[in-house]
Amino acid sequence: MPDYDRERTVAFHAVQAAADLCQSVRNDLEGDVLEKDDRTPVTVADFGSQAVICQALQTAFPDDPVIGEEDSSALRTDANADVRGRLLDEVRAHHPGATPETVFDWIDHGTADEYSDRFWTLDPIDGTKGFVRGDQYAIALALIVDGQPQVAALCCPHLPHALDAEPPESRGQALLAVRGEGTVQTLLTPDTDAVPTPIHTSDTTEPSESRFCESFVSSHSSHSLAAKAGERLGITADSIRIDSQAKYAVVARGEAEIYLRLPRPDSPDYTERIWDHAAGMLAVEAAGGTVTDMHGRPLDFTHGRLLAANTGVVATNGPLHDEVIAALDAAQA
Ligand code: AMP
Ligand code: MG
Repeated sequence: MPDYDRERTVAFHAVQAAADLCQSVRNDLEGDVLEKDDRTPVTVADFGSQAVICQALQTAFPDDPVIGEEDSSALRTDANADVRGRLLDEVRAHHPGATPETVFDWIDHGTADEYSDRFWTLDPIDGTKGFVRGDQYAIALALIVDGQPQVAALCCPHLPHALDAEPPESRGQALLAVRGEGTVQTLLTPDTDAVPTPIHTSDTTEPSESRFCESFVSSHSSHSLAAKAGERLGITADSIRIDSQAKYAVVARGEAEIYLRLPRPDSPDYTERIWDHAAGMLAVEAAGGTVTDMHGRPLDFTHGRLLAANTGVVATNGPLHDEVIAALDAAQA
């Protein structure tokens, strides 16, 4: 068994730096009245996050391709001069010698698009709507070896250590997972001696006592099919609705049992992106849960940027998985 200690440490430090950059962009937002359609802050944070993470990966593991969500082409246009300037300021807080060209190169280190035996996949900001609203968002990084996520750093800068905890003191958590070694949760703030805590999915075996966690944005998953399946399972608790892969964190910590991502009737052909699931999936699986597509098939990470062989995603605590898949089948029949 290879040991992934170095990968895990590099991934954690990389997402910590990215979270610091994203929170710096966010803090500048607090005082501003955000123009309704001004995408500048989220764009700066998105590109900045990909730049600092890819810089760290390129330095530590120069031979590993990175399949990331962004590429620098949009940044190079005249229309984005303002974004470029702000991006450079944010990245220079971490790399004082950075130039526009080095930043573009770091971002474009993350533009691999083909499957290989060993690669990283990155969502530099997952849940942009949550980021803008000041709600949940995630920075999701995973190492995939032989088609399986093996190492995950799922960073949730606005997530408290437990949903019922009082923010802000515990806000900013990272889930770190290595296949076969479990998932731990740790505070993001670097200058703390907080000890990482092992986390586990809920051990509920009774479907009617379980809870859904679902997208805040209803166009990203069919809430009506979820509701039908929920009825069959006898679920009465309100769903927890949050943006981003923080949903996987909530399932991994045992605060909800089921996360469903189901194609909507108005976009039946939407194909899930690997960076929206790789890190979250491993965080849940290593914590005791199960993740498949909506037909119970394993997620297949061998098709480049897309989960092209899968339909939807179902993450559960583990014990409830088969019943959830059966309820979904029946709800569609
Ligand atoms: P969420 O935070 O659950 O709302 O998911 C955010 C992610 O949804 C984004 O990172 C997008 O990649 C993804 N997304 C965008 N459009 C769709 C769609 N039509 N169906 C499912 N996911 C989508
Ligand atoms: Mg995303």
